[in-house]
Amino acid sequence: MNEQVAAFYQTVVKQCNNAHSLRTICELICRNLMQHLAVNHLQLIIKYNGEWKLLLDLNSQGIQYHFPPITPPTSSEYYYKNIHYYANKTTASIDVLPNYRYILVPLKHHSVIIGHLTLAVPLDSQLAPKHFAILTTLLAAEINNYLTKQTTKYHSINCINAEKELLSTKEQQQTLLNKLQSMHDISFQLWRCNSMRDMLFIAIDEAKKQLQIDRMAIFLFDEQKNMHGTFGTDLHGNTVDEFYFCSLIPNQWYASKTLKDKEYLAIQENTPLFHDLKQVGFGWSAYIALWDEDTPIGWIACDNLITGQPLRTYHHQLLKQYGFIVSQHILRLQAAENLIKLNHDLEQRVQSRTEALNKANEQLQKLSRIDALTNIANRRVFDETVITEWRRASRLRLPLSLLILDIDNFKTYNDKLGHAAGDQCLKTIATALSKVERRAGTLFARYGGEEFVLLLPGQDQQEAKSNAQRLINTMHDIALPFPCDELKNSNHAIMTISIGVSTIIPSQATTYDAFFKQVDTALYQAKAEGKDCFRVLSPT
Ligand code: GH3
Ligand code: MG
Ligand code: MG
Repeated sequence: MNEQVAAFYQTVVKQCNNAHSLRTICELICRNLMQHLAVNHLQLIIKYNGEWKLLLDLNSQGIQYHFPPITPPTSSEYYYKNIHYYANKTTASIDVLPNYRYILVPLKHHSVIIGHLTLAVPLDSQLAPKHFAILTTLLAAEINNYLTKQTTKYHSINCINAEKELLSTKEQQQTLLNKLQSMHDISFQLWRCNSMRDMLFIAIDEAKKQLQIDRMAIFLFDEQKNMHGTFGTDLHGNTVDEFYFCSLIPNQWYASKTLKDKEYLAIQENTPLFHDLKQVGFGWSAYIALWDEDTPIGWIACDNLITGQPLRTYHHQLLKQYGFIVSQHILRLQAAENLIKLNHDLEQRVQSRTEALNKANEQLQKLSRIDALTNIANRRVFDETVITEWRRASRLRLPLSLLILDIDNFKTYNDKLGHAAGDQCLKTIATALSKVERRAGTLFARYGGEEFVLLLPGQDQQEAKSNAQRLINTMHDIALPFPCDELKNSNHAIMTISIGVSTIIPSQATTYDAFFKQVDTALYQAKAEGKDCFRVLSPT
């Protein structure tokens, strides 16, 4: 027996010198145990991470080496069924069972049991635990050595991974920080925009540059649930005018996620990417809803169509923040634009009201100075003018002539033909007589009833007389028929007028009232002396 054991050890030691791995050593040992010592079954359990596990199993199916060691199969027919019974044994022992003798030897390293080797030898075998003392020492040393190496390797891999993770977290945090700084810069630029168009352009152009987004577009909704393009990005990354674009809000995943679920952000990876509603590629696509409190006002859409850069964790936070900033600026400029429009409307209304008011005033002014029936200057104009002219004539020592005209027998005309015909007659006479003297400064006005005045500043008595005659003649020329039977054969078969005339150079000694009375007296004389004539009175 001792010779066989010696041969076993000799071969094992020799072969193990060239072996480098625990697996090879285990397999060498198994083969030599089978060959030299007729061992048919063997199990090696070790303490691995605090638990008893099966490292090596030699059975009818051959040698099975497990690393990391496994939990022994419960279906096994072998003795390690009750693994703890063996595992807790501190000394070697032999169990004799019907077919085999089982030799159980603990593996110790610095007096600590690190495993158990169980060997099944034929019933008649002389092998005892002592024969395996060297083997277990050898195995214990190899296993311990290997496990230590493994632990070190495991720890160092863990360390490297942790370090890598830390670095990437740090990197991501730094990137997020940089991006937040960039976003702050963009926000500052947006504040300086006074028009919606400029703001939307910068919101897209700068965000792409500074936040490194491939494509970005802003869409705004109207009250009819249409979405309108503003600025967007072409297939080469240029910011372009897309105000022409208008469509209904599409029934897509991002629409329901943002608008129905009231989310700020909808992101999808590995999704079809579109340009002008046509698919142009694949990648990640994000929609940031823009809100005015509870009302959605639009979207910022972005994707990675051009560079295919992956979606980072910081993108979520960054895009949400950006959406918030942009919606604030949209609302700010909408309010400003509404205010400007309101002001403009108000200004226009004030202007049109002012114009209407001016027109009405003009009309009123005109109406207050024009006689409504005859359309010539009224009594008020005469009263104002005559005073002015009186003063001027007085100042400049110039003559002032005044004629008072009265239609003859007008009462009869009215009585015979009615008031309406009387009105028409008055109009015709006024129009005809107003054309007789049109030199600058002269004034023909209706004084009241069927009486008119002709004011002739600067004209002397001769000129006044001439005008009176021309007025009388005009009546003869227009020859309006007079409807009175008893006067048929007289001169008054036509409408005639009588005129009082006077001329004065106003002075301290004279008054306008006296002057007027004199003209009136002259008229009275004309009436008294047969009508259809003029009489002149010189101031006394
Ligand atoms: P005389 O030749 O003396 O002036 O006689 P007369 O009838 O013209 O004078 P009188 O003062 O008696 O009558 C003037 C009339 O003029 C009386 C009035 O009915 C008429 N009259 C005054 N103003 C108007 C007017 O605006 N329309 C009409 N249809 N008649 C008027
Ligand atoms: Mg009269
Ligand atoms: Mg009269």
